[in-house]
Amino acid sequence: MLTLLWFVVVLAALVVLAYTNATGIAWTLAFAALLALSWSASLLPVWINGVLSAAFVLVAVVLNLTRLRRSLVSDRVLAVFRKVMPPMSQTERDAIEAGTVWWDAELFSGRPNWAKLLAVPPPSLTPDEQHFLDHEVDALCAMVTDWETTNVYKDLPPQVWQTIKDKGFLGMSIPKEYGGLGFSAYAHSEVMTKLSTHSGTVSVTVMVPNSLGPGELLQHYGTDLQKRYYLPRLAKGLEIPCFALTNPHAGSDAAAIPDYGIVCMGEHEGRRVLGLRVTWEKRYITLGPVATLLGLAFRAYDPDHLVGDQEDIGITCALIPTTHPGVEIGRRHMPLNAVFQNGPTWGRDVFIPMEWIIGGQPMLGNGWRMLMESLAAGRGISLPASSTGMAKLAVRATGGYARVRKQFKTPIGMFEGIEEPLARMGGNLYMMDAVRVLTARAVDLGEKPAVLSGITKLHLTERGRKVVTDAMDIAGGKGICMGPSNFIGAAYMQLPVLITVEGANILTRSLIVFGQGAIRCHPFVLKEIEATRETDRAKASTAFDAAMFGHLRFTLANLARALVMGFTGSHFVRIPSNVAPETRRYYQQLTRFSAALAFLSDVSMGSLGGALKRKEKLSARLGDVLSLLYLCSATLKRYEVDGRPPDDAPLMHWAIWDAMFNAQNALEGVISNFPNRLVATLMRRVVFPLGRPYVIPSDKLGHEVARLLIEPSATRDRLTAGAYISRDPDDPGNLIERALAATIAAAPVEAKIRAATRDGRLAATPPPGAGIEWPIDKATSDGIITAVEADVLREARELTERVIRVDDFASDLGISLLQPNDPVAAPAPIARTASESESLRRRVGLFAE
Ligand SMILES: Cc1cc2nc3c(=O)[nH]c(=O)nc-3n(C[C@H](O)[C@H](O)[C@H](O)COP(=O)(O)OP(=O)(O)OC[C@H]3O[C@@H](n4cnc5c(N)ncnc54)[C@H](O)[C@@H]3O)c2cc1C
Repeated sequence: MLTLLWFVVVLAALVVLAYTNATGIAWTLAFAALLALSWSASLLPVWINGVLSAAFVLVAVVLNLTRLRRSLVSDRVLAVFRKVMPPMSQTERDAIEAGTVWWDAELFSGRPNWAKLLAVPPPSLTPDEQHFLDHEVDALCAMVTDWETTNVYKDLPPQVWQTIKDKGFLGMSIPKEYGGLGFSAYAHSEVMTKLSTHSGTVSVTVMVPNSLGPGELLQHYGTDLQKRYYLPRLAKGLEIPCFALTNPHAGSDAAAIPDYGIVCMGEHEGRRVLGLRVTWEKRYITLGPVATLLGLAFRAYDPDHLVGDQEDIGITCALIPTTHPGVEIGRRHMPLNAVFQNGPTWGRDVFIPMEWIIGGQPMLGNGWRMLMESLAAGRGISLPASSTGMAKLAVRATGGYARVRKQFKTPIGMFEGIEEPLARMGGNLYMMDAVRVLTARAVDLGEKPAVLSGITKLHLTERGRKVVTDAMDIAGGKGICMGPSNFIGAAYMQLPVLITVEGANILTRSLIVFGQGAIRCHPFVLKEIEATRETDRAKASTAFDAAMFGHLRFTLANLARALVMGFTGSHFVRIPSNVAPETRRYYQQLTRFSAALAFLSDVSMGSLGGALKRKEKLSARLGDVLSLLYLCSATLKRYEVDGRPPDDAPLMHWAIWDAMFNAQNALEGVISNFPNRLVATLMRRVVFPLGRPYVIPSDKLGHEVARLLIEPSATRDRLTAGAYISRDPDDPGNLIERALAATIAAAPVEAKIRAATRDGRLAATPPPGAGIEWPIDKATSDGIITAVEADVLREARELTERVIRVDDFASDLGISLLQPNDPVAAPAPIARTASESESLRRRVGLFAE
């Protein structure tokens, strides 16, 4: 009996030591004490005690004597590592090392310090930024309709272009000292969000100069001269920039661009100067067709060693005026019916002086690093804001539509079948907006959160696409038939653009999130890799030894933590006392996921090694867990920052349950597909010792969320805050808002009529030939409702009629009027006043009258 107890104590000691990440000395002392106990109480036969003690002494001596440990253990492992480590190219290294690590490191630690997240100060706008958002952004939105831009101008109208330039939209991220607006990342994100709720074309046009491109690169890497010349011109829209990286043969694999520049002497402005002869072929370049300043990425070579010993210098970025001889700007692409300017550019043996390299000659070959560092922050702002904007538009308009549109005498939003997509839309948007804000906040705090910005871009654009697809299904035929009164079709068509650019999503999910996350966020992996590259033997030995044993203890700790939390439902995990009580359990459960992720990551890396890189499906799923942990963190943070409004709680609960269920599926996906089945069994026993506990959000919760979307409320306003609501009474969004308000106002009147019909005071079927107005007229004349109430009902019906109407067109859909010689299709923007364009629209019959 005592022996059994001793074994239990040994097991408990193992778990406690591992769980607490105890030091080597603590392990040694604990086992020495247990062995002493066994000897003194004769718990085991003498020979077993002897064998165990000998083994203990051997292991303890080797592991506790540093020099011995290094020479017998870590140096040997280091030698194996050096052999098996896949070689890493400079571009891979630049990509992995770019940017900073922030909250993602906590999520990878197995024990996130939630107090740190809660302490992140919430973002705010300066008075200037708020004013810009309320005035300039609203005014710009009021100038455009997506339909007119896409179908009449095939471009932004000239006056819109001018406003964009004059009001500084192209220089939001350029510092004030250079004439820009000097906005924070958060303000930039707010502007992009609002623009995207109204016009995809405006939003993309404004996005590019403020995102990865000449402005951003100049600010961080430009010479003083380049900054002083170009930044003020970019800020005022005197230059329209574009940035050309993508080549027809190198899209996702952008580091493999075949575009090249040869260092040579050449003629420039009548002088013979050092420069490069550049040849390129680029496509998909946003703003390319109208750009005056071409940012160009190419690989520089120096075969004659004019600037140094290296022949292949590496990817380099230059700024080239598009008027420069040899620069060819092609015709336009048409990205999914969105008419922002986008097209190819090419050049053959175009000589450019060295001073056109961004940062000058010293920055030759540094282009890839520059791009990766800029992307580390930039991709977390513009595209996530755009997809959130589109999702806000979808939620606000579709929620209203689902309330005013009736079938089977019932608002469609009240059917359980429609509640399901509505709940997904609400929960997803709540989470998306939370993530958008938190990532922008990180950037404003000085981070360049490479992994988190990748997660933000990937997951917000994916969720944006889901939200808009759900909106399409709810809208039915109204969403399908394009025209000026379709409120969702354009977003549905345009959202895939966001999926593809700045790192196509499948690639980001399969290669980047976990690939970069595991190396950058893991407390020891990068240190181990660096140690394998260290040429000084002594330094390498010390560093590798510390990293390897730290790593071992870390893995054991996460094994023990995942197991214990799995058995106890993570009820005993300590979390800050100041979190909302209704969210306490989420923090505890996310801690469990964090430990499970860290454990599975270590086991996967340890058993698959470099092969994990090719196991993209496993890597993607591990990345999904990291991503979902971040998405949940942002959601909980938002709930606190918003002041824990009880009415918003269903949105928060839905989002977290959905994410936890998906994180569980991702973990299960790793385990059930893990190549080594023995390891997979160990993984399952540790991560899910009592089975899989997480379930989808309940139908009841989904019902609560759906209700929040289909009726006006402070929660609906908070959820869609920042959406532009047009004042144009014909704008579909405006119409839905008014129809929704009128429908809600008319609901009690309708109830009176229904009651009268039920108790026989009003005939259930109108007399033959009576119009649809008959029940209202009869109910009024019979005193069932008042004349005022009848008007309320009539207004609701009239507005609803307008909301549900779809557009129709001339029989050839106006195509005959859009031939090349027709003024509507002229390639150059045509200056027209608002009334001219209105009369043009009517003339060509593109619109339903
Ligand atoms: C509208 C639009 C605007 C753009 N604007 C610009 C711009 O201004 N400047 C610029 O330089 N570029 C621009 N691009 C280019 C954009 O960045 C590329 O389209 C993008 O990098 C993907 O390249 P690709 O289209 O050639 O797709 P491919 O590289 O051919 O990829 C096709 C698919 O394969 C997937 N894939 C590729 N490799 C892997 C892998 N290892 N594992 C898993 N999946 C993988 C991708 O995720 C994608 O789904 C723009 C593109 C579009 C469509």
